[in-house]
Amino acid sequence: MLSFWEAQSFLETDVAIIGGGITGLSVAASIKERWPNREVTVYERSIFPYGASTRNAGFACFGSLTEIISDIDVMGAEASRELLFNRWIGLQITRKRLTDQAIGFEPLGGYELIEARHLEQINRIDEVNILVQDFIPNYIQELSFDAKIGLKEKLGTTLVSMQDEGQIDTGLLMKSLEGYVLSLGVKLRTGVRVDQVDPSADKFSISMLDQARGRLTIKSNEAIICTNAFVDAMNIDEDVRPGRGQVLITKPIDNLQFKGNLHIDEGFFYLRSVGKRLLFGGGRNMDIDREETTQFELNDDIQSALERKLANIVALDHPVEVDMRWAGIMAFGASKSPHVKYDQFGRILALKMSGMGIALAGQIGEMVADLIEDKNA
Ligand SMILES: Cc1cc2nc3c(=O)[nH]c(=O)nc-3n(C[C@H](O)[C@H](O)[C@H](O)COP(=O)(O)OP(=O)(O)OC[C@H]3O[C@@H](n4cnc5c(N)ncnc54)[C@H](O)[C@@H]3O)c2cc1C
Repeated sequence: MLSFWEAQSFLETDVAIIGGGITGLSVAASIKERWPNREVTVYERSIFPYGASTRNAGFACFGSLTEIISDIDVMGAEASRELLFNRWIGLQITRKRLTDQAIGFEPLGGYELIEARHLEQINRIDEVNILVQDFIPNYIQELSFDAKIGLKEKLGTTLVSMQDEGQIDTGLLMKSLEGYVLSLGVKLRTGVRVDQVDPSADKFSISMLDQARGRLTIKSNEAIICTNAFVDAMNIDEDVRPGRGQVLITKPIDNLQFKGNLHIDEGFFYLRSVGKRLLFGGGRNMDIDREETTQFELNDDIQSALERKLANIVALDHPVEVDMRWAGIMAFGASKSPHVKYDQFGRILALKMSGMGIALAGQIGEMVADLIEDKNA
């Protein structure tokens, strides 16, 4: 039951954003920066984000050689270039907005281990470098294992490095982004699951379930759906498929030599240093049907494979001990480009961030603000 005061003051907003992950909060930041007087409210189903934004590997990256080549072959060169540019500019926006210190950004570098079956793709480095030369000159360079970065050298494989790649501290970034949007005056309502976003008369009617109060309906002038893979309740007519990502993190390792990020196999596996620890994740491609899920459980087969693969890749004095394991949910479709558009109901969709939404998010916020500005022009 609502009070008179609650009904007067809490059931309307100018802009409702559904989903409080990095995309929803970046969209909130861009809108509030452009229109400080609009009331912007984010509705998030959990106490803190529960999708991918607080559960990822923290690569601040734009794309590895084999992944970009696969994208070019599937999506075409122009769409791949646009996606790479959006990731690159998106990361600049987030770094400038929050500062490197506040997000734990470290420019430790990015590498890709090119396995034997992908070796011929070394011949396409120039093609990729030309595609991105106006924003990341000399993006990819072939390296030799003599670089001694702490990886095991395997016959028939080679290494490349990616310019400008770094790492963020995922938790710090999300806490800092939350603090930033709150400082702008964004309202953050957590613990409410939105299950309907419908146009009604001149406003949107947003129906949600609150743990304490039960069902509530909020009216809003704009409705922006930023739930990434979680679209079941939203009546969305777009290609959005969930993809579970699993990771493990080791206990601190004495004399750990490897520092930075390592991409393997079109980005299906990823390794990074976290101080004296290693974080290793991926393997979705080993069981692709089972991993197309919004459930957060671990897949034991994939976790065991991660442990075996880690031991094969990194040069270590002793076997490592795993400290924690977890899963997060990404969103994919036939192409890697995100959906950022008005739909047939007049709602804005900002969905399907694939496996590199960290860098992308800053630019998605700007793209959504541009959509609103164009509509109002
Ligand atoms: C294991 C793993 C590793 C990754 N590693 C990297 C990496 O190193 N670098 C990188 O760039 N990207 C990485 N990603 C991908 C990146 O994390 C995502 O692209 C990005 O976080 C997507 O952000 P989002 O805000 O769009 O979605 P999410 O973070 O999923 O946020 C969506 C939010 O919507 C909320 N929500 C869902 N349904 C409702 C509802 N009905 N009502 C209200 N709220 C709702 C959810 O609780 C969630 O908080 C990784 C992902 C995973 C899972």
